[in-house]
Amino acid sequence: METKKYVYLFGNGKAEGNAGMKNLLGGKGANLAEMNNIGVPVPPGLTITTEACVEYYKIGRDQMKTALKAQVEKGVASIEEITGTKFGDRNNPLLLSVRSGARVSMPGMMDTVLNLGINEDAVEGLAKKTGNAKFAWDSYRRFIQMYGDVVMGVAAAKGEHDPFEIALEDVKKAKGVELDNQLEVKDLKVLVEKYKEVVKKHTGKSFPIDPWEQLWGAVMAVFDSWNTVRAIVYRRINNIPADWGTAVNVQAMVFGNMGSNSATGVAFTRDAGTGENIFNGEYLIDAQGEDVVAGIRTPQQITLEGSKRWAKLQDISEEERAANYPSLEETMPVVYKELFDIQNKLEEHYKDMQDLEFTIQDGKLWLLQTRTGKRTGAAMVRIAMEMLNNKEIDEQTALLRQEPNKLDELLHPVFNKTEEKKAKQLTKGLPASPGAATGQIVFFADEAQKWAAEGKAVILARVETSPEDIEGMDSSKGILTARGGMTSHAAVVARGMGKCCVSGAGAIEIDYKARTMKVGNEIIKEGDWISLNGTTGIVYSGKIPTIDPELSGDFGHLMELSDKYATMEVRTNADTPKDSTVARNFGARGIGLTRTEHMFFEGERIKAVREMILAKNEENRRKALDKLLPFQREDFEGIFEAMHDLPVTVRLLDPPLHEFLPHEPEAQKEMADDMGVSVDYVRSLVEELGEINPMLGHRGCRLGNTYPEITEMQTRAIIEAALNLKKRGVVAKPEIMVPLIGTLEEFEKQEKVVRETAEKVFAEYNDKIDYLVGTMIEIPRAALTADQIAKKAQFFSFGTNDLTQMTFGYSRDDVNKFLPKYKELGILEHDPFEVLERRGVGQLVEMGAQKGRASNPNLKVGICGEHGGEPSSVEFCNSVGLNYVSCSPFRVPIARLAAAQAAIKKNLN
Ligand code: PEP
Ligand code: MG
Repeated sequence: METKKYVYLFGNGKAEGNAGMKNLLGGKGANLAEMNNIGVPVPPGLTITTEACVEYYKIGRDQMKTALKAQVEKGVASIEEITGTKFGDRNNPLLLSVRSGARVSMPGMMDTVLNLGINEDAVEGLAKKTGNAKFAWDSYRRFIQMYGDVVMGVAAAKGEHDPFEIALEDVKKAKGVELDNQLEVKDLKVLVEKYKEVVKKHTGKSFPIDPWEQLWGAVMAVFDSWNTVRAIVYRRINNIPADWGTAVNVQAMVFGNMGSNSATGVAFTRDAGTGENIFNGEYLIDAQGEDVVAGIRTPQQITLEGSKRWAKLQDISEEERAANYPSLEETMPVVYKELFDIQNKLEEHYKDMQDLEFTIQDGKLWLLQTRTGKRTGAAMVRIAMEMLNNKEIDEQTALLRQEPNKLDELLHPVFNKTEEKKAKQLTKGLPASPGAATGQIVFFADEAQKWAAEGKAVILARVETSPEDIEGMDSSKGILTARGGMTSHAAVVARGMGKCCVSGAGAIEIDYKARTMKVGNEIIKEGDWISLNGTTGIVYSGKIPTIDPELSGDFGHLMELSDKYATMEVRTNADTPKDSTVARNFGARGIGLTRTEHMFFEGERIKAVREMILAKNEENRRKALDKLLPFQREDFEGIFEAMHDLPVTVRLLDPPLHEFLPHEPEAQKEMADDMGVSVDYVRSLVEELGEINPMLGHRGCRLGNTYPEITEMQTRAIIEAALNLKKRGVVAKPEIMVPLIGTLEEFEKQEKVVRETAEKVFAEYNDKIDYLVGTMIEIPRAALTADQIAKKAQFFSFGTNDLTQMTFGYSRDDVNKFLPKYKELGILEHDPFEVLERRGVGQLVEMGAQKGRASNPNLKVGICGEHGGEPSSVEFCNSVGLNYVSCSPFRVPIARLAAAQAAIKKNLN
């Protein structure tokens, strides 16, 4: 039987894979193959497929090793042949790097092992080969540390120092030196022994000396890292399926730490924060792989221009910069030129911004990785629009490349400039991820989560962040680190999350034990307010107020382009003239839902509302409603005026009445005084109106059908508002919507009240306007009988919040009691109140729209549940042919873009 191919080789300008094989080889593996194919220098290696990882979880470690053994051995032999080295050899050893690589990049989430293959023999070989025993022994101790941590699970407890670091400090202290590189060969040998003891002490196991045992340990550890807590959390935040698995890349090591002619770095073909078309990145001379990203040493800039900009931000003079922090362009001009040409070649080849990792070993440049660079929302828009303007990509590609949710970052407030000027500057770091953030400072990721869950705005401050901090970072408004550059973990992850981040603020000293941060003489305690400007890198003490951002230029262009391709319109859910105006400025083509009850809560109104609810007879109810009429009319005039010429869907009163009742004793007392009755009487009325299950109780059209005078008053307010505006030349287009119907009769009765009232008002005004009467479809029975209902209704709007609630039978208010567990167990993939569930709820929407249109071809159909602003739900609505989606004002641009993408994808299929 032929065995399955699990291993793909690359090296020497040849590869078995290519960039199109991301699903099988992972993003990193596919691109390593592709770089070989297009003549970019890459150390030879092999990729173990994602299928192997998936299989590993089915058949287990031993069987998987058997399945892989021959193929991996053949691969290592091929690397040996290309490099002329031998794995574990005493004279000319091959050392390997082992890295994970999923289909999409998960920065810092998965594990990496470098220098694999060193043991007592190979370390001698390495010393001989390089003529540098110190380098060889330093590589050995680094390997034990990394392997011990990643593969064998040696870890420090919370608040404790890393045990390897403690051993290192001990050796340095004994020798009386401060810097790592002051240690000599004999010290490093001692350190290697100490490190082995650390491993033994923490794991009970000896450090493996057989290179093959090391390799298999590392490969399996990469497979295991797919299911670490941090990887699972990252997948959950980024909606990455658990069954993709990760590939494993095994590659010949190249060394950036072989002296002053060696270096390692990370670069971007454009600015990942702003999108500016400028090559940029960071490097460290005489350093190895993870040193740059781990944020342990503050790296130097690659380009001269970048270096000058950096120095300016750091208040460093040109002399000091040139002497201590020169750019790669200055220190290694020839290699720099080669790197510059390669980055051009890669961007031209992939036609998108690339994020590169490279190593220079003794003057020779090697690329270790290229991938599509993570970027902020602003950079996402700018890069695509500039590439479009330069005809590098076409309009559809530019649109499909946007992540709709990331537009959110562009819509969010920035600091009010005058207030920011007045604020007290604490210090300055690197502008790692743009935006403005104000919050209370915390120093631990779990604390950040806890405080955020209590509704507090927090800023997470760390010496540096690590992948374990991911959830805490996600819960924070902004992230501040004392160490690390623009490519540090904090910076990369924050940009991916669209979170404001200031990194490498070297002047701050964080004391985790005391939970304080010191800047000069100032001490900031846990819970104190600070503010971050991620665009300038400035850190302020205290709160700074924010204002709305400007939306023109590339963003405006993107929105125009979206409208060109979208076939479905986007409306907004808005209850006030202000929200209506915001949404209109964001491009809303009308209002899809005005929840009239929100107008009932303000000031004097609530009293009249309560009076109406507690009225024992129609006469008293009408009296209370008469008080409400002028308020409602005025509200509608404001909204209609803001949305002039565009349709405005106004929903009749919907929520359970108990939501308006006074439940607190003081409020009941106030109400009793106002009504001139006893508190006991009010209390008894409230009790009488209490319901066991209010969301399934006296609400929606059941209110209008039992108290038609409410519908009358609301209709009168709507029609009078429209007629009043008409006198002023403003065109109002009301669409009156009956909520929560389950039967045709419920709708018919309400429609009759609306039409009769409208006619009455027309007669009084001796004038008319056009209006529609339609309904919400939010009860499964309404969707099932949509053909009947559509004979009478002029439009449908799917209320997918209630429709989801009633289709699943999950209370929308209590679902969080079990939803997290359900997601964990795989019973549900998403929160169905966030992402429209297609098979069940979606089927009702599709069927309702079809049946409705079959009996009323002119029926207008939209959706106004929260799903209307969620990109994948927007795509679904487009696929079933809805006329519009309606969402909250700040999601309008997101929905416009999602609608365009949906239309393009539908055409492509
Ligand atoms: C809905 O149910 O989807 C809807 C929009 O109405 P509400 O959220 O006000 O119940
Ligand atoms: Mg509803």
